[in-house]
Amino acid sequence: MNEKKNNSKWMIGSVVIILILAVCFNSAVSALSKTESVKETNYSFFLKQVDEGTVKQVQIQDDIIKFEVESGNEKQTYSTIRIDDANLVDRLHEHEEIDFTGKNERPSALQGFIFEWLLPIVFLLAVWGLIFRFIGKKMGGLGNAMSFGKSNAKIYVKAQTGKTFEDVAGQDEAKEALEEIVDFLHNPQKYAEIGANLPKGALLVGPPGTGKTLLAKAVAGEANVPFFSISGSEFVEMFVGMGAAKVRDLFSQANEKAPCIVFIDEIDTIGKKRDGHTGGNDEREQTLNQLLTEMDGFDGKKGVVILAATNRPESLDPALLRPGRFDRRIPAELPDLSGREAILKVHAKNIKLVENIDFNAIARATAGASGAELANIVNEAALRAVRNGRNSVEQSDLEESVEVVIAGYQRKNAVISQKEKEIIAYHEIGHALVAAKQQDSAPVHKITIIPRTSGALGYTMQIDEGEKFLLSKEEAKARLAVLTGGRSAEEIVFNTCTSGASNDIEKATQLARAMVTRYGMSGIFDMIALETVNNQYLGGDTSLACSSETAAKIDEEVNNIVKTAHAEAVRILSENIEKLHELSAYLLEKETITGEEFMSILNKEKEKAVA
Ligand code: ADP
Ligand code: MG
Ligand code: ZN
Repeated sequence: MNEKKNNSKWMIGSVVIILILAVCFNSAVSALSKTESVKETNYSFFLKQVDEGTVKQVQIQDDIIKFEVESGNEKQTYSTIRIDDANLVDRLHEHEEIDFTGKNERPSALQGFIFEWLLPIVFLLAVWGLIFRFIGKKMGGLGNAMSFGKSNAKIYVKAQTGKTFEDVAGQDEAKEALEEIVDFLHNPQKYAEIGANLPKGALLVGPPGTGKTLLAKAVAGEANVPFFSISGSEFVEMFVGMGAAKVRDLFSQANEKAPCIVFIDEIDTIGKKRDGHTGGNDEREQTLNQLLTEMDGFDGKKGVVILAATNRPESLDPALLRPGRFDRRIPAELPDLSGREAILKVHAKNIKLVENIDFNAIARATAGASGAELANIVNEAALRAVRNGRNSVEQSDLEESVEVVIAGYQRKNAVISQKEKEIIAYHEIGHALVAAKQQDSAPVHKITIIPRTSGALGYTMQIDEGEKFLLSKEEAKARLAVLTGGRSAEEIVFNTCTSGASNDIEKATQLARAMVTRYGMSGIFDMIALETVNNQYLGGDTSLACSSETAAKIDEEVNNIVKTAHAEAVRILSENIEKLHELSAYLLEKETITGEEFMSILNKEKEKAVA
């Protein structure tokens, strides 16, 4: 951008200078020729003077004739329009006293060159430059286009990314795969000796926020080589062909700087399957073709390694994934329990903590959270500590910020009537009681009826002891019973139902549906995939793959499963109706109770009954 600005400044400056010079030159020339005063006259006067013999000098030019008349001591120069006179030369020749010459009026060669060639060209260039500068300013992208396919690939070196593998926690498999690439960039000859070809490209795949971009930066930091980073969307230009030009430019830059790393973030923007019928996106397709060609074109031994990241690997063009291009796929999955703990610790390094923080407890409470969310939780905790006027983060800050990330901030001044609060309390205790009374449920950690900004009026947190990778049919059923527990309590106690259960209904339906269509846990279908997951890393929405008759049966079966779970919840709550009342009253008074408080009331009751 800067370079361009300077260019046009220089251009405008030179045009102005040339114009000034030309004007000076021209006026100097005419000034010289006008030193003596010239009188205009007619042709007959000229002929008469020639015949009279008063003319001493004649200068014949293209259009005029200049002549000097001498009368006595006085000399006078005249000019007259030249008439097509065939005998002019003979006539002058007859008078021996006349000294006559011709003069070419055309400008000199240099002058002609300046006026006829240089000035128009310079002028046109200046106008062209001005127009494009103007348009460029108005429509940002075009200014870019005028740089004729320069890519904006930024060059990062170690000092600039400042990230190493130490900053990435919990992605051990990904780090291991990438360490090999780093090693290759450090000493390529070790691999060349054996004759091994390292993968040209590696594709980082995983849900959003699992540290894919972070991993790529860490590779650059570790390898200490130039790092070209560009986002897929940057290739998408206004003009067809510009994206392809950018790809070309990026790779030629990379080839010059080898060994180096080229990182293309969000590659699905340009790498989508070419399915032919999307119509009209020639630009994307051309860019992709150029990328495929460039990836084939460079020498794998030279040390250019291409990393790319995406959370939609299934949408990528198969040509991109074939060996020789992105032949290695590095998954960056959601972190497991120990991974989450490690990520929390990495981010906690930057903040002041009190001693004895139990990161494991926080990690257990955040099953399914991504690295980005965990980083956010730590930061929220620090913010909360500041808000409360402390200078170090406590366990409670972290616990609260988990809830903030899950359910939003507390709505302290939400006005909820006593009657509604009572319903909410029974609803939450309903969930908790069903959970506590079942074998296959995770223990209750916390129950609260303080409303949150997400719209939740209260919630029950359950936290598993350890990490769970499988979901058994019994656990699924138990979870459904817990989900229906809230509504069941409302029904039993108030003999009504409220809209407060809408979130529970959504979750229950999702789970029951998955049991039937994907997990093969229903009574009527065998191991048949009735639904396929479309994009596993982004929400995981599904599409049905069965006839409409089967779809109707699925709906019926889903309803049956939920109904059974609902009945089970009602049974459990009816059997423990006294504890339901007691616990609800306690929650209503305290607003938030811990799992221990909950369990001690539950068990005390039991002891009393025994005694
Ligand atoms: P994405 O996978 O969407 O590219 P990013 O790499 O941009 O995710 O991660 C966003 C942020 O989340 C990072 O800057 C980092 O602070 C945090 N983060 C994600 N994963 C990890 C991890 N494994 N270790 C440490 N921090 C992480
Ligand atoms: Mg990213
Ligand atoms: Zn509920």
